[in-house]
Amino acid sequence: MHTTTVVIGAGHSGLAASRCLSDLSIDHVVLERNEVANSWRRERWDSLRLLTPNWQCRLPGYAYEGDDPDGFMTASEVAEFISGYAKLVAAPVMTGTTVTSVRRTDHAYVVTTDQGEWDCATLVVASGAFNVPQVPDFAAAVPSKVTCLTPREYRSPDQLGEGGVMVVGASATGVQIAAEIRRTGREVVLAGGEHVRAPRVYRDRDIQWWMEAAGVLDERYDEVDDIVRARRVPSMQLAGSVNRAAFDLNALTTEGVRLVGKLAGINEGRAQFSGSLRNKCELADLKLGRLLDTIDEWATANRMDDSVPPPHRFEPTNVDAAPPLGLDLESGEIETIIWATGFRPDYSWLDVPVVDGKGMIRHDGGVVESPGMYLLGAPFLRRRKSSFIDGARVDAADLVGELRSYLDRRGPQPMSRS
Ligand SMILES: Cc1cc2nc3c(=O)[nH]c(=O)nc-3n(C[C@H](O)[C@H](O)[C@H](O)COP(=O)(O)OP(=O)(O)OC[C@H]3O[C@@H](n4cnc5c(N)ncnc54)[C@H](O)[C@@H]3O)c2cc1C
Repeated sequence: MHTTTVVIGAGHSGLAASRCLSDLSIDHVVLERNEVANSWRRERWDSLRLLTPNWQCRLPGYAYEGDDPDGFMTASEVAEFISGYAKLVAAPVMTGTTVTSVRRTDHAYVVTTDQGEWDCATLVVASGAFNVPQVPDFAAAVPSKVTCLTPREYRSPDQLGEGGVMVVGASATGVQIAAEIRRTGREVVLAGGEHVRAPRVYRDRDIQWWMEAAGVLDERYDEVDDIVRARRVPSMQLAGSVNRAAFDLNALTTEGVRLVGKLAGINEGRAQFSGSLRNKCELADLKLGRLLDTIDEWATANRMDDSVPPPHRFEPTNVDAAPPLGLDLESGEIETIIWATGFRPDYSWLDVPVVDGKGMIRHDGGVVESPGMYLLGAPFLRRRKSSFIDGARVDAADLVGELRSYLDRRGPQPMSRS
């Protein structure tokens, strides 16, 4: 089978690309191993809501139009939102089609799937940036009596025993899961290293509103000092909830979560925590202060100071003077460990030499090192917001524009139908 462009993945990124390709009359298919919006249907825990407000759900030619723009959709509502988009743009999605290999020939790509083979001139990789939970190697040393779960396996506190829980990782996933389990009365220890603190609401507006207004979310990949580092920054300690609650470490310790430093290793059944918790918290407080400074400066420059409450600063993170540096995992105190230690993409099917030693595709703002190949949905791909739904709106338009220029430069080829 031949087409001009194969898009891999029918999440919001692949569908945004499809819409932009259709706008430019570029013949394409979208190959999806399961169904549209698969990750929101199958790969999220039960209580998860968007951490971005509903009004920020915008894709090319589509936007949230429900009656709760300031609320946060549940995962199944997001799946419906994305499925609605697929229908609206009449995306040519082939569901139940798993890409098992992509090879480059002299002029094209050969995409092998479990439903047949495609030749195409150009490829959009929109297969997701968060496919596989990342768990440190030393997890293998956890005593067998302790149950280990990744966020992909975790659904709700109901599946856990009654004993204590250690959540490893204090970014968006870790803080949400730790808070939810703590509310069931279980003892919860949260092991946190570097993290990004954020309030849900500041000066009466959602933090995402301020970050968008002040241009923080639009910051470009070629404008930051260290893009490699920027792409590795953990997700903000944010969650969407009906009461717009904060999910920073102070909110968690107030609810009784015990805070310890980064889990550095496990030796003879004993968890060993880094002693740098206080430093990490001070750094996160400092960076939050800088973000709020940027917001306040923008508010003043845009004459908003009279229409919103005055600037204020949040309490520094409360950290015990001497948080424990170890915990006996044999003692029975901890019955479950949840590894909220991040996710990585899965490019095991990609037989084109563009994946680096860390398993990431090498690219320049989504233009992959291999001619005619483009990437969508990765953190800080082109802008700070690239891995958010709203990021795909602009990134897809940019990259499909690049793809069109590539096809124009390349000229007509015998295998292309367009
Ligand atoms: C826990 C969590 C919470 C998040 N919360 C928010 C939020 O609140 N707001 C926000 O804007 N963003 C959020 N994100 C980020 C982002 O919006 C989601 O990760 C989103 O699902 C990414 O969309 P995508 O289309 O790039 O990738 P995905 O949704 O992962 O879609 C990729 C698709 O590719 C398919 N696929 C993968 N490999 C193959 C293959 N080999 N063959 C065929 N198909 C394949 C998958 O089945 C999947 O359907 C969150 C991410 C996570 C992990």
